[in-house]
Amino acid sequence: MASGSSSSEMASHIVGYPRMGPKRELKFALESFWDGKSSADDLKKVSADLRSSIWKQMSDAGIKYIPSNTFAYYDQVLDTTAMLGAVPPRYGWTGGEIEFDVYFSMARGNATVPAMEMTKWFDTNYHYIVPELGPDVKFSYASHKAVNEYKEAKALGVDTVPVLVGPVSYLLLSKPAKGVEKSFNLLSLLPKILAIYKEVVTELKAAGASCIQFDEPLLVMDLDSHKLQAFTDAYAELESTLSGLNVIVETYFADVTPEAYKTLISLKGVTGFGFDLIRGTQSLELIKGGFPSDKYLFAGVVDGRNIWANDLAASLALLQSLQGLVGKDKLVVSASCSLLHTAVDLVNETKLDDEIKSWLAFAAQKVVEVNALAKALSGQKDEAFFSANAAAQASRKSSPRVNNEAVQKAAAGLKGSDHRRATNVSARLDAQQKKLNLPILPTTTIGSFPQTVELRRVRREYKAKKISEEEYVKAIKEEINKVVKLQEELDIDVLVHGEPERNDMVEYFGEQLSGFAFTVNGWVQSYGSRCVKPPIIYGDVSRPNPMTVFWSSAAQSMTSRPMKGMLTGPVTILNWSFVRNDQPRHETCYQIALAIKDEVEDLEKAGINVIQIDEAALREGLPLRKSEHGFYLKWAVHSFRITNVGVQDTCQIHTHMCYSNFNDIIHSIIDMDADVITIENSRSDEKLLSVFREGVKYGAGIGPGFYDIHSPRIPPTEEIADRIRKMLAVLESNVLWVNPDCGLKTRRYGEVQPGLVEHGCCSPSTPPRA
Ligand code: GLN
Ligand code: ZN
Repeated sequence: MASGSSSSEMASHIVGYPRMGPKRELKFALESFWDGKSSADDLKKVSADLRSSIWKQMSDAGIKYIPSNTFAYYDQVLDTTAMLGAVPPRYGWTGGEIEFDVYFSMARGNATVPAMEMTKWFDTNYHYIVPELGPDVKFSYASHKAVNEYKEAKALGVDTVPVLVGPVSYLLLSKPAKGVEKSFNLLSLLPKILAIYKEVVTELKAAGASCIQFDEPLLVMDLDSHKLQAFTDAYAELESTLSGLNVIVETYFADVTPEAYKTLISLKGVTGFGFDLIRGTQSLELIKGGFPSDKYLFAGVVDGRNIWANDLAASLALLQSLQGLVGKDKLVVSASCSLLHTAVDLVNETKLDDEIKSWLAFAAQKVVEVNALAKALSGQKDEAFFSANAAAQASRKSSPRVNNEAVQKAAAGLKGSDHRRATNVSARLDAQQKKLNLPILPTTTIGSFPQTVELRRVRREYKAKKISEEEYVKAIKEEINKVVKLQEELDIDVLVHGEPERNDMVEYFGEQLSGFAFTVNGWVQSYGSRCVKPPIIYGDVSRPNPMTVFWSSAAQSMTSRPMKGMLTGPVTILNWSFVRNDQPRHETCYQIALAIKDEVEDLEKAGINVIQIDEAALREGLPLRKSEHGFYLKWAVHSFRITNVGVQDTCQIHTHMCYSNFNDIIHSIIDMDADVITIENSRSDEKLLSVFREGVKYGAGIGPGFYDIHSPRIPPTEEIADRIRKMLAVLESNVLWVNPDCGLKTRRYGEVQPGLVEHGCCSPSTPPRA
């Protein structure tokens, strides 16, 4: 090949890569370590092996800019907190390099101290550990992980791009520490943390790094000029330290506003800018309007948030037009964001048929797509690869498995109308109370009970057809019976069946709906070692048969107390699935809502008078930019109402949401028109109670979580009682429900039982038990 061809070779870049491993190797290593079953060295070994295989894979694929430090034992924001030595004093860290004990205590809590707060990472289902900062934090360079990983890769022969959470995004993702005024200006800490960033960059340079990536995803949010100025200041301050390096500032999850764009492309010391060109169209328009001639454009054209094969022909056309704008040697092909948010490797999917597989690309395949696009741009197009891709795109468009006319018609008929129950919530609660006769401060749980090894075995063996349906039903009924008896002993008022038949609250429904496909290893990290395996919605959705009626009826027959039917709502099914990208999300959501509506009505007919429709993920689907909130909330809330518009007043509809951060969407939550709302609260402070009060004004029952199920820590009785008292002080007692803040699935019986007894102890309706 002529020597000129290598200089015109287009470069490829990967923003970040999943950490868990193709078969969740990291999860198992972490959990085994936490359980004391393996050593720190074992965990480190598994992790190092994962990193090295990822680097090797990208390097074999031909990626030019390969990331390092995108691995994390728990979370990349927590890694940054460790790097900066910003450990809250309660974890007893006394200095030196931060090791597992302190790191995992911050992440998960320990016997005496609860975990740090965890919250959603933008609009993904990933959760990060929220830094707690105040004016007195003594920052110090306390974790050399970024440098260590860079060196580790280098020793393996791979020159990587160390990735750091950018300083401004880090601060804007933080919260003021306890005791620090809420009005504390987190950005005032910028000079202090930049001093540490400089140390890190200097050390990376010394280790041989030639390129560094700063992730500044905050740049896609609505930012005031003060915040934008912080970006300008930060990089100006870093400029001299960064000199001699290629520096990428990466944005993702949405396009950028014109103001943010202007700030971004003017940053000092930065040589390349990364854009998500999948979400929103504005970034592209802005780039077309002018891009600095001496800078690199990292064009995120391969969707990092989804599992669909890229439409390579369309991407190539886009890239070619960008090439014309920014110049041949200044365009770098990239993914829209870190591949952390997609599944790992399609190679391990043994159960998907070839047709569906041809429509898909997971992280490993996306790496190949990115590189294939880069090569095609430089004139080395892999024709076979491109034509196979074009054939797959065409087959997906025309497949009868994708198109169901009846469903399309029914969903189209919903648009523009407003489905709502006929009576208001107070009248309905009266009608329900006559039927249910509940005590004040009624107790309930959110649905799932712990899933024992034995239970998982039963489900697995049934799925593998190793045990008969009869044996399976018997085993599950026994489990339900156990859970029912336990709740009766604890004197809980509204019972649940414990969801033993469910592996996952979305997958369980998706498996019974048409239009869904399932992977065996398509896991995506949710938080820490926890992963979810989102179903793939590839076609029009319908419900061929009832999904939960059999189990709920069986459970109801075991008790005279009300048994809650337990469903996952349409918005949550949507938001926790990989959604088709060939029609608007709301159209898919309406289709799911109609399917759940059928189920709600069948449950009511079967004598289930309390039905919980979980919308755990409604908020996380909220678009990042305010201008788009209204439209999303309108169709999301409408979808929820569609599910239960057909029941009688006496049927009590609960909804549960896995968050408490709803100040901005309280009116939409009210507009869902549920009878009882349970929400996650136990990890946040009580200040939001005033917002609650706003919310309950309209009369629904409300159940703020009193027990943090995400942490193994069992709160002492007095702590829960105190919380209840505080709530009662601001809320009307007749609307307050007492419940944990989420399902108990992730906990063990040894933890759950005492936790629930504590609940019982505090509620006047449930006298303490010996
Ligand atoms: N009903 C579900 C459960 O208890 C709700 C879980 C959730 O909100 N994440 O597991
Ligand atoms: Zn929840």
